[in-house]
Amino acid sequence: MSAILKSLGFEKHSPYVRDYFDNVNMRKSIYMSSIIIVLEVWMIIRMTRTIFREHLQSNFWHYFEKYYVNYIVLLTTGCIMLFCAIQFLRGKLKCRNVIVITKCVFMVICIVFGIKVSLNDYEKGEQILTFITMELFSLCLLTWRPYAAFLISGVSFLYLYFQMDQMVAVNTMVNIKKMVIANTTDTGVTEATKINFFFMWISTIMVCIANYNGIRIQALKAGNLQEINTYLSKLSVEDDLTGIHNMFYFRNEAEKLLNYVTTDKENIVFLFFDIENFKSYNEKYGFHAGNDLLIKIAHMIDDSFKGSLVSRFSDDHFVVLTSYEGSKNTIGQISGEIKKLQKEVHLELKCGAYKPVGDEADVSLACDRARFACNSIKKHYDRTFRMYDKTLEDRFQLKHYIVNNIDTAIENGYIQVYYQPIVLTENSEICGLEALARWQDPNYGLLSPGLFIEILEEYRQIHKLDQCIIESVCRDYRDSVDNNKPFVPVSLNFSRLDFELCDIVGFLCETVEKYKVPKEFIDIEVTESALTDQQEFLPSAIKRLREFGYKVWLDDFGSGYSSLNVLKDYQFDVLKIDMKFLSGFSSNEKTRPILENIVSLSKQLKMLSLTEGVETKEQFDFLASIGCNRAQGYLFSKPVPIEILREKIKKKELKVSDQYSN
Ligand code: C2E
Ligand code: CA
Ligand code: CA
Repeated sequence: MSAILKSLGFEKHSPYVRDYFDNVNMRKSIYMSSIIIVLEVWMIIRMTRTIFREHLQSNFWHYFEKYYVNYIVLLTTGCIMLFCAIQFLRGKLKCRNVIVITKCVFMVICIVFGIKVSLNDYEKGEQILTFITMELFSLCLLTWRPYAAFLISGVSFLYLYFQMDQMVAVNTMVNIKKMVIANTTDTGVTEATKINFFFMWISTIMVCIANYNGIRIQALKAGNLQEINTYLSKLSVEDDLTGIHNMFYFRNEAEKLLNYVTTDKENIVFLFFDIENFKSYNEKYGFHAGNDLLIKIAHMIDDSFKGSLVSRFSDDHFVVLTSYEGSKNTIGQISGEIKKLQKEVHLELKCGAYKPVGDEADVSLACDRARFACNSIKKHYDRTFRMYDKTLEDRFQLKHYIVNNIDTAIENGYIQVYYQPIVLTENSEICGLEALARWQDPNYGLLSPGLFIEILEEYRQIHKLDQCIIESVCRDYRDSVDNNKPFVPVSLNFSRLDFELCDIVGFLCETVEKYKVPKEFIDIEVTESALTDQQEFLPSAIKRLREFGYKVWLDDFGSGYSSLNVLKDYQFDVLKIDMKFLSGFSSNEKTRPILENIVSLSKQLKMLSLTEGVETKEQFDFLASIGCNRAQGYLFSKPVPIEILREKIKKKELKVSDQYSN
């Protein structure tokens, strides 16, 4: 039912479909009005010529009223229609009412003209072709809603019909004969004319309906396509969660802005925002509340930097390109607003800023630098803002150097293993070594892990380094054994990302096999923070390692905040107590009972205890007295290359335990 009603024109058109109809109508009316203009000019010329040729000038007013008026009115409407249609299509005529009224007036004049001329023709015993032409012209070529076409054509057909009906029916011989015989002036159209009339009317409406529906379907199809296009183009520049712009838009617009000659480059700044502790908020209040908060913050930043480029970078990170002047104040305001939003989770806004120098136009690099400045103040609870400066530039360069050169460094042997001895507290003899990475770089000199581990983790390259260390340690074992030198078990540091980025357990097994290293000679250190990250594959990887016969140590125990849970949920062979416990050993009397309890706890949980960062004899003696099994620290040795370690052993500075060596 509704489909029928729709096809008869009883439906509300979307703005797009309505415009589509207007457009089609205006295009068609250009052809129609042009033809009408040409025809009417021709008719006027023809009429005038006839008047002059046949010397009918004295009757001019009669002709004027009967013909000229019609021609002139139609010609004028044709001109107006043509003008409006052209203006509309050129986009200069925006008012829809003007279009609709012009179209209606044009149609009415055409039909009235058709009726008038046809009645004249009919009077003369000729056919009503002008009416039919005008109906076709204005109702079928132009598009009308079917019910409107029904009404207009109905009225015009009926009017013409009744007018004709009252006239002398001169169009059939039968009638003429009848009239002659009866000597009367009989009126009324014949039966055949009635039927023809009716069919003509029906056909006109049919053509109108077909025309309307054809264009309606085209309009709907085009409308759908248009909607999809609008949606896609919106999607390509909008961040789908927050609704503010995305990075695609930001990069494009920022690039344009940096290249405009009119941009005041001295006064622009890239800002990078990060919401510290957002992760905890998500964990505490759930994903949906987290999303709501992000949307709120996104709009807060967007509104605060009106007229500037603002977009979501990723997760809880946003970038802004704005003028330097006044930006610090705005950042301060946003930071205050965000503090007001927090509930039990302490949310804090961090912002890094980068001012491009000279003609720099690399947007990604600028964002990267602003981000770097922002990251440099993470965990500094008193700082909200940091400008990218020379110190950061040096660190930034090093970071890029590390990420871009890790492969070359491994290939060229710049990654080296330093060993730090682990001793038994009972006799200070070496029972193990910790393998610690060093990067001996031709440009930067000796780089310590503090400078590259975190970066390699951030760029997900850490597994390359750890695989390299595994290989080097196994090679060192083979070399020692082949040359009859002592070797003790080595503990390797595994990053939690190793388990994600590669099959580190598989790689270890293969390498151990390749160099024929007994499994007792390899231990694995996993840091506590790795286990609090709620990853599913890590527990099974630890289990697998232990099943293969490797010992797994819990590194940095006590440095995180869920150590005890970790102890409850996993089984470890050695508990490595974080060196922070030893800091302030002589001044802080609480350290002793804490250490004592941890050592006793490890015994109860059937783990060996090891304390790292032992620097003084006093610390060592205390650890021995409370029954801590092992110790590691500068008191015995700093991490050193294997040759230096061998020398120390040779010089009897260090002694290897017979029980643990090969
Ligand atoms: P970690 O595993 O806790 O290693 C112990 C760190 O403490 C080492 O620093 C070591 O030099 C230092 N240290 C040892 N004894 C003392 C001491 O008595 N006093 C002081 N102040 N420090 C001491 P290093 O070699 O700079 O390593 C830093 C961190 O880098 C390591 O911490 C470890 O988490 C990571 N790391 C080192 N090598 C690797 C590796 O090959 N792979 C992975 N994934 N991480 C590594
Ligand atoms: Ca370690
Ligand atoms: Ca450690």
